[in-house]
Amino acid sequence: MPLRLLYRRYQLPFRAAVRTAHGVWAERTGLIVRLENDRGRMGYGEVAPIPWFGTETVEEAEAALKVLGEWVTPEQLAAVPAELGCLRFALAGSLTALGEDERRVRDNPPCLPVVALLSAGRAALSQIAPKAELGFRTFKWKVGVGDIADELALLDDVIGELPPGAKLRLDANGAWDRRQAERWLERAAEMPVEFIEQPVAPDARGADDVLRGLAGDFPTPIALDESLVGARDVERWLAAGWTGIFVIKLALLGDPMPVMARLAAAKADVVFSSALETAVGAKAALRLAFGWAGKPRALGFGVWPLFNNGVFDGPFGAAFIRFDDVERLKPEAVWNALN
Ligand code: MG
Repeated sequence: MPLRLLYRRYQLPFRAAVRTAHGVWAERTGLIVRLENDRGRMGYGEVAPIPWFGTETVEEAEAALKVLGEWVTPEQLAAVPAELGCLRFALAGSLTALGEDERRVRDNPPCLPVVALLSAGRAALSQIAPKAELGFRTFKWKVGVGDIADELALLDDVIGELPPGAKLRLDANGAWDRRQAERWLERAAEMPVEFIEQPVAPDARGADDVLRGLAGDFPTPIALDESLVGARDVERWLAAGWTGIFVIKLALLGDPMPVMARLAAAKADVVFSSALETAVGAKAALRLAFGWAGKPRALGFGVWPLFNNGVFDGPFGAAFIRFDDVERLKPEAVWNALN
């Protein structure tokens, strides 16, 4: 039976512009897709690309949807090329939602911890105590933004502000060269640093070898983020025997089920992370994160409220996300708001 495929484009200003390594990001553009079966049941999915991260653009995803047309078979959906990873994620999510006739009994944890995001530089210091008060125990500090000596000097102060038993993630977003990364890893070895995320850029010369070398030379784990754009990168690093951490932006993963199965089979160490998606993508992504049976690490999903219109937001970024709040998200409300 063919399915009816419709989509709506969204362009949503962020409540506060997001600063990235590639400049200021003021609004999120993406697509909500809707599949309808012959019994009138709907399933929703979200295309939330981050083109500067290496994904397809919204225009490319939209062009592929136009080619698919309004009536599609599951086989046609499965044939969408891997390069369109965000579109594949959206279509897989809407197909899954279509297939769920009744709410399954799940053995998910009732809630999962969320990482607290700290501003770069000295501003982080005054943010830690209030967030610790809210219950956060994992903190993430952006580094590689200012002068390396200044930031290294600040590291002691940031660590000093942490509540007992808390851990700090350092995210360099690929800002360092090997020597700079070594300086940080030497310092971090003595500290409650959970891991260092993407110390060198994925397109730096010999980046894969540098990352592997750093992982072998220092006790603090290294996490891959920008090095993993989609399923192919995950597969490549799994095949290479990467024993560090995989930061998985689920919305960029393509059809997520085979990749999740591969990660689970390899007993990979995974951190799940948001792509600054709306409630539609958030629901699909967080369901997957709650279904993960491996070692739980604080989720990189403390991003909402993100949009001016709250109907588009995922569950708010408290110290924990409750599974019930994920289930309460209403994809059809997002769809209707885009009418
Ligand atoms: Mg990162």
